[in-house]
This record gives sequence, structure tokens and C-alpha cells, in this order.
Amino acid sequence: MFQWLFLNESGISSTELTRWRISALRIILVSGFLLEAIIAVHSSLDAMAIGAYHVVAIVAVFYAMLTIGLYFSARKPDCGAAILIATVYAAGAAIVLFVNVDEVAKLGIIFVYTTPIIARLFFGGRLAIVLMLFNFLPFFYLLRNEPFFHVQALNITLEASHTYIQALLFLFFNICIPLAVFRVLHALDASAVRYREASAALATSNEQYREFFENAGGPVILCTTTGIVLQANKMADDLLGADALSGVGKPFLGLFEPPPGNFQQAELQDLEGKQFQTRGGKRVSIQHVSRTTQGHFIVVLHDTSSLLKIKEALQRSKEREVFLSNYDMLTQLPNKEMLRRHLADTLPRLEPDRIIALVSFRLNSVRHANEKFGVTAGDRFIQHFAEVLRDTLPADAFCARLRSIVFSVILPPAKTSSEIVEQVERLRGKLPEEIAIDGRNLFVQVSTGIALARTKDISPEELIRRGEVALDSARRSSETSAMLFDEADAALIRRSIEIELGIVKALRESEFRLVYQPKVRADGRIAGLEALIRWKSPSLGSVAPGEFIPVAEGCGLIHDITRLVIDEVCAFIRKTIDQGINCPPVALNLSAVDIVRHDLIEHIDESMSRHNVPAHLLEFEITETGLIGNEALAIHHLQELEKRGNGISIDDFGMGYSSLSKLSSFPVHGIKIDKSFVARIGSCSKSELIIKAIVSMADMMSCVTIAEGVECKNQETFLKSAGCDVFQGYYYYHPLEGRQLDALLATMT
Ligand code: C2E
Ligand code: CA
Ligand code: CA
Repeated sequence: MFQWLFLNESGISSTELTRWRISALRIILVSGFLLEAIIAVHSSLDAMAIGAYHVVAIVAVFYAMLTIGLYFSARKPDCGAAILIATVYAAGAAIVLFVNVDEVAKLGIIFVYTTPIIARLFFGGRLAIVLMLFNFLPFFYLLRNEPFFHVQALNITLEASHTYIQALLFLFFNICIPLAVFRVLHALDASAVRYREASAALATSNEQYREFFENAGGPVILCTTTGIVLQANKMADDLLGADALSGVGKPFLGLFEPPPGNFQQAELQDLEGKQFQTRGGKRVSIQHVSRTTQGHFIVVLHDTSSLLKIKEALQRSKEREVFLSNYDMLTQLPNKEMLRRHLADTLPRLEPDRIIALVSFRLNSVRHANEKFGVTAGDRFIQHFAEVLRDTLPADAFCARLRSIVFSVILPPAKTSSEIVEQVERLRGKLPEEIAIDGRNLFVQVSTGIALARTKDISPEELIRRGEVALDSARRSSETSAMLFDEADAALIRRSIEIELGIVKALRESEFRLVYQPKVRADGRIAGLEALIRWKSPSLGSVAPGEFIPVAEGCGLIHDITRLVIDEVCAFIRKTIDQGINCPPVALNLSAVDIVRHDLIEHIDESMSRHNVPAHLLEFEITETGLIGNEALAIHHLQELEKRGNGISIDDFGMGYSSLSKLSSFPVHGIKIDKSFVARIGSCSKSELIIKAIVSMADMMSCVTIAEGVECKNQETFLKSAGCDVFQGYYYYHPLEGRQLDALLATMT
């Protein structure tokens, strides 16, 4: 009922005005209908009581009109409203004509004054004005203030007529019309609220749209179907420069240089993905074009110049990464990985009769440069050397920095290994002796190792490994020429590394001991002893001095060994003397590197005095090679020893190259004929001749001759006949130790 009456605003749409009117009309009709019912029923009963049946008929007609009006309010509201207005006029006329009391009849005229407002509510202003003007007629009629014309025939006066008419006016002026106006105003209020809400929502959505447009993640332009720019966001402004802002209202494609032809509606979509240049010189692509509901175009642009820059930067960083993974930063030379790849590439293409050489150079003197001038100077040295090496190499050689101070070169294939060795020696010859760094001349000392690949089956890793082995043996050898890789070398190097590590441990854990081999005179008496070192390593087993002494000489550990031997021998002499045994002179072997050591004499002195050893009981054996090289210092040391009374013999005599004249300048007391000559007695007359020559030469120098390695009677007979003084060898005694030695020495006393 109320829904039917009030027609809620929420359901109101574009036809809302009509709905408000229908609602207002219904309110007037229904309220009038209901409230008038009391008056109508009462007045009808009054009229019936006095037999005025026409009054009942008139009341019924009015009710019928109101009902019809209500009926039309649903289907044809205009008809309903027209019936209402007509009813009001009819009611006014009926009051004027049928009520014979003038004062009350006048109210009928006042009643029609409601028609303009009803007309305004339902039909608009025009009809309202027409009715206002029309209402002048009854108004003037009223102004005349003359007695009213009454239809006498129907004139009746109901007792409550006055009340009925007053109630009618009250009803209309005070209830029906105000309620209808309330309804309309309420609707207007609601509509105003809705309008405000809608406006706010619109403003928000506009703002959102604006923000979306501005921050759409790229430059965006809104243009008409004819390509005229309506709006451009900030990014589009920035991208297109001053053109975009001033471009609003201008053809969009005109913002590019050169303009890409005349704009045609259909073409805009076709431009998607195309690239243009702005007048400011930036590269722009049209990323997306879409149509709005209004038929405009949203054009999303893309700044490809910045993308291009990012791509370029990315490319550069990738190149740098590739460079770093393939090249060495310091020298800019290819690194080991690159060398490996180059070999992997070259080796499979090796022709059957060709040889590829991997030549490694180790710049040994960097260590010296680092120590003396600092690491930075060392780095510069490496850099310079790399440059020099690269300049020295043939153009088709490949040069890499294998690791810190090692450079590897792949030479172009050659036919023979000697060709390669010659080439390497030529190369080495071209390397400078010194390189100037910061005004200082740093000497270039290089070890060179060569590894050859004769077949393509060898892997790059194996060739590099062989290069390392060759380089290592070059570094360890005193030879200055290049070292060629050979499998035996590799095993030797591995063994010598084991020995080197073993010696360090042996010194720490006292694994060395001495044995003593007696030397005898022609009559069999003991002339002296020779101390010989022995090493039984827990990991390597017994290692002969012939094997570990050269290793110790190579790595400098020989000095520690010699100190130990000197100390042990002095202790042995002291112990023997202290036992009351007649101690023979004991000789110990000095290495070539020992004899030129600055603190040699100092150490011997210290040891002899600590053990209180008489000098004549301590002798030294030195090989010929030990005397060549730093001769001055060697002679000085020998003279010092002689001064103290120590005996000195030349060991392994005949194997070296010392000339007689040179020998005469050394203060020596004995010459030991090398056991290789003794071993050939009876089988090689040349050796026998040499022995005889040595003996006579020693005689001339007043030196004692000692034959070593005497193993049989024949040798002894020959040596005796040749005039040898002292004999040493298994024929007499093996090197002795412990109790055996003590027992022997005891017999001498
Ligand atoms: P060397 O000084 O010529 O020593 C003689 C070598 O001949 C010793 O070998 C000895 O055992 C061996 N020998 C002795 N009699 C005979 C024999 O009848 N026939 C044969 N075939 N050999 C005999 P060892 O002890 O193995 O020493 C080898 C080399 O090691 C020594 O040669 C010496 O140069 C060096 N050496 C030994 N001990 C020391 C040491 O304490 N210091 C230094 N610097 N070198 C040492
Ligand atoms: Ca010796
Ligand atoms: Ca010897």
C-alpha cells in the first residue's frame, strides 16, 4: 500500500518526475477519498432525512470522479490529474450554485484557488498560469460582493453544510495539497542527496581516472578519432617534450619527425608496434591503441631509446663478464680457461706429421721484485713482461697467463721437435735481460718448459699438465735452457718433491744417522774414517744419500744437514776420545753449496770448540765441482780450515774438469780416486792409466792418494803397485755403525 502510494525514490530513474507526480496524485486522491468519506456519508444521511436525494446523487458523482481519478493514476496519470482539477472546479461550482447561504457559498470560489498549484504539480507551469488567470473570474465575481446566484430548484440547506464545506477546505488546503507538496519536496531532497553523492562519486572517479591516466605505467595520450590530441599525461609530455603539451589540440602524429603521413581513422590501430622519432630525437614506439566508449583513442607510447640504453648497458656488462671469465685483468691476456678452449679447438685439427708446442715461461724474478719494491711494482713487472713477451712472439702464436707468474704460449705447428726447441731458444734470446719499472731495472729471470703434442689424442688438460711438469723441472734444474717434458722427468719431480717434504720432517724428527767407513793403509792399519749419512724414512723407506743429497742441495736444506753432520761427527770424536780409544781422523763430505756458505767456518769452529775436538781429527772431502764457481770464497774457506789444521781431500777425483794448475792453488792434502776408475781395473787399461797419472800427479803435489770403492784383491794389487797410499771399500770394511765400529776402534788401541 505505502509502496504503491509513495513509489520509493530508490526505484526512480529517468522517469522519476512522472513517478513523483503519480505518487503526489495518489496522495491527494487517497487522502481526499478517505477523509471526505465521513463528510459524504454524514451529508448523504442528512439529505436523505429531508428527502433531498439529488444531494446524495451529487455526492456519489464526486466519489465516482475521485475513484476514476485514482484508477487512472496508475495507467494515465495525466487523465487522473485532469479529473482531479475538474473535480475541484465542479465542487467549487456545486458549492456556489447549491448553497444558499452566501457566506458559505463564497468558500466554493476560494476552493478553486487550489487548481493552479495542482496544475503546476501535474502539468507544469503553463497550465498553472492559465488557471491562475482563469481564477480571476470567480475572484472578480467574489469582489463584486453582491448576492450570489443560486439554483433555487435544488437549493437546500443541510444543517451541517457550513461544517461540511469548512471541513472540505481544511481537508484540501491543510492536508491533501501539503501532503502532495511534501511528497514532491521529499523526492527533490532525496534527489539532491543522490545528486550530491553522484557528483562526489563522479569527482572521485574523475580523480581516479586522472591518476590512472597519469600513472598508467607509461606515456599515454588521449586523442579523437581524427587524431587530435585531447590529453597527454606527464610521461607523454616528458617523452614528447614541449611538443606534447603544445600538441594538445594538434594532430597526434604531427608530434613526430618526420610526420608519418596523413592520419586516417582506420590507420591509427595499424600503427601499433611502429616506431617513430620525436622532434626532440627520442625513439618512441606505439605500444597499444584502444578505443574509448566515446569513440576516442587511448594511445600508449613506449620510450624505446631508454630501453635501447638499458639493452646496450646490459650488453656491455655481459661483454665484461665474458671478458672477465676469459681474460686476465692485469695483463689483458687470455686466462687458463681460454687457453684450454683454444687447445681444445686447435688439437683436433692437428695434422699427422705436425707437432704443437705448449711453451711455459715462469718469471722467477717477480718474487725478488715483490720483496724489494712491493707488490705493485711486482704487478707492473708482470704487466710489462706480458707485453714484451707478446711483442716477441710470432703473430700466429697464442699467449695466455696460465697463473700468477706463468705465461703459456702455443706455438704454430712445426715438423720436428728440434725446430721447436730452436724457436724457443731464439725466443728466449729475444727476451730482455732487464725491464725498467719506475726508473728501476728489474732483472728478468725466466724458467722455460716445453710440452709437445704429437697426436691429436692428447687432451688440453694433459698438455697443460705436461707443460707444468717441464716448467717445474726447468725451475729445479740449474740449467738455463728450456726443459722438454718427458714422462720420466715427471716421475722424478714427483719423487723429489716427496723427498724434499721428507727431509724437512726427517730433520725435525731426527731420522738421520751416520755410519763410518774406515780407510786403511797398505799395511792394513786404519788410516781414518769417512762419515756417511743414512736416512730411513717411515714413509719412503731407506733413501740413499746419492738420491736425497742432490734434492737437499736443490732446495737449500743441505745446510741443515751439513750442520747436523758436523755436529754429530764432532760428538763422535769427543765420545771416542772420552772412551780412551785412539780416535783416527774422521772425514765428512761437504757439498758444493756448503763450501761457499758464509757461515761455514763459523759453524765448524763453534762445533769443534763445543765438543773440544782437535782440528787434525776432523777432515773434509770436497768434490771438484764444489771448487768451481765462487773460487775465491771456496779457496778462502779451505785456507781457513788448513790454518786450523783440518785435513782436506778432493773427492771423486777424475770425474770433474779441474786442471792440475787449478788444483795446485787449493790447499788440499788428499786426492780420492773416484770409484768408477777403480771398478774398471783389470778391464779398462785407460782407467788404469788414469789412476797411475793421478797418483804421480798427487805425488808431485805432496798429496796422499786414496782409492775408493775397492772391492777385490786384484784392485788392491793394482792400486798398491800404482803407488796408492790409502784404500777404502767393501774389500776392507763396509760403512760401520754402533758396536761394530766401537769393537774395531778398540782393537786399534
Ligand atoms: P762418496 O763421498 O763418494 O762416498 C762413497 C760412497 O761409496 C758411499 O756411498 C759408500 O757407501 C760407497 N762405497 C764404499 N765402498 C764401496 C765399494 O766398495 N763399492 C761401491 N760400489 N761403493 C762403495 P753412499 O754412502 O751411498 O754415499 C753416496 C754419496 O753421497 C757420497 O759419495 C757423498 O757424495 C754423498 N754423501 C754421503 N754422506 C754425505 C754427507 O754426510 N754429506 C754430504 N754432503 N754428502 C754425503
Ligand atoms: Ca766422500
Ligand atoms: Ca767418492
